[in-house]
Amino acid sequence: MIAQIIDGKAVAARVRAGVATSAAALRAKHIAPTLAVVLVGDDPASAVYVRNKAKAAREANIDVRDHKLAATTSQADLLALVHSLNDDRDVDGILVQMPLPKGLDEGAVIRAIDPAKDVDGLHPISLGYLAQGRPGFVSCTPKGCMKLLAEVDTKVEGARAVVLGRSVLVGKPVAMLLQNANATVTMCHSKTRDLAAEVKRADIVVAAIGKPELVRGEWIADGAVVLDVGINRMADGKLVGDVDFAGASQRARAITPVPGGVGPMTIACLLENTVEAATLRGR
Ligand code: NAD
Repeated sequence: MIAQIIDGKAVAARVRAGVATSAAALRAKHIAPTLAVVLVGDDPASAVYVRNKAKAAREANIDVRDHKLAATTSQADLLALVHSLNDDRDVDGILVQMPLPKGLDEGAVIRAIDPAKDVDGLHPISLGYLAQGRPGFVSCTPKGCMKLLAEVDTKVEGARAVVLGRSVLVGKPVAMLLQNANATVTMCHSKTRDLAAEVKRADIVVAAIGKPELVRGEWIADGAVVLDVGINRMADGKLVGDVDFAGASQRARAITPVPGGVGPMTIACLLENTVEAATLRGR
């Protein structure tokens, strides 16, 4: 079987266009969806991420409030900014770009965000709602994964799903979303005894490890759907995923490429969450 390549760029463009339409409709009702973006320090990669998110938001009719703070910012000053954004009735979503410079407590900053503005879906209350299967903000990359599964008409109910990686950012929420959609989910991690055997049994594989091409093509069951979340930069500058794409494409029914698969969905889902927050404000 030669896999269908899931075009994350095209799906993300469609999601973003839908967000732009919803945002325009809110604006017509005098609600301007607004995302506050907080960047602390001068990590070049974080600066690029923040720039891309802000640009995409503006393109989707979402106002952006940029807050750039020095790397020497104290925890108290950062928390004070978050609290002021919580209190600002014109701000719908708050995004604090991670990682924070050394010495700042990321967990405390995330916990300080009003869960009603937690468009990154990382607050423990958002994750708690997800665990309970109740509505709340779902973190962006996992939400994007579920949209891509829907894109290739995957029957998630009853499927055997194997999630590789158990981070709070990706692996755990993806596993919860799959469980909520009635998949039978196995979570694998660095201590899993036989990764190959687990993957071989999967109808759906989500790889979020951060190890280039660790998942071999021959591990993939015929007809499986493979979502590769991993982004690994090789010595020659090339980006590769956690899955051996060439090998897996020979067996999977559908697979995401890296780049251009799961990656573009993250920003699209951030924008969608922001407009959802603005919609709730408008009620
Ligand atoms: P992380 O480092 O927080 O977690 C990695 C997980 O992989 C851990 O749970 C660990 O137990 C597991 N792991 C490590 N080695 C393993 C092994 N040999 N076998 C099985 N499991 C193993 O990483 P993360 O934040 O979850 O990100 C994972 C990957 O996804 C990275 O490449 C990251 O760049 C990428 N990522 C992409 C997006 C996006 O597409 N927008 C978003 C977030 C993360």
